[in-house]
Amino acid sequence: MIEDTSLDMIRSSILLLLSEKPLHGYGIMKEVEGRIGRPVNSSLLYPFLKQLEETGVVKAIERPVGKKPKTVYELTDTGKELAARIYKRIASMVSTAITPDTSTCFHCGCKIYEGGYYEIIDDKVKTFCCSHCAQAYKNELAPPQQPSEP
Ligand SMILES: [Zn+2]
Repeated sequence: MIEDTSLDMIRSSILLLLSEKPLHGYGIMKEVEGRIGRPVNSSLLYPFLKQLEETGVVKAIERPVGKKPKTVYELTDTGKELAARIYKRIASMVSTAITPDTSTCFHCGCKIYEGGYYEIIDDKVKTFCCSHCAQAYKNELAPPQQPSEP
């Protein structure tokens, strides 16, 4: 019996693998085994491929491999979009994980997900969520001088 998390991992590995190149069933088993370090049962693989085929994520194509034709699995356009979304999701999770501090406002400390406002203060680039925070920060740093009377 395979745990659910392992099953999810095997499933997503199969999908991402097929986004790199079309493969036949045995090829998928070998490649996934190489990646996750454990054999993939064909009783798990083929029903999953069937499911992907039925939902339009994968298409099965007969292709001559050696002497006799074999069924090769390839992602459809829908499948490619799905794989691209998974990659994008992973990429954003990785960048969030490795750069937790670069995207917080220097003044109010709120998280900056996109854009932000940059200003050079004391020869250093400081990040703010908006120009108002930058101004407020500078005001705190150096209190505004009283305008001197002429
Ligand atoms: Zn702010």
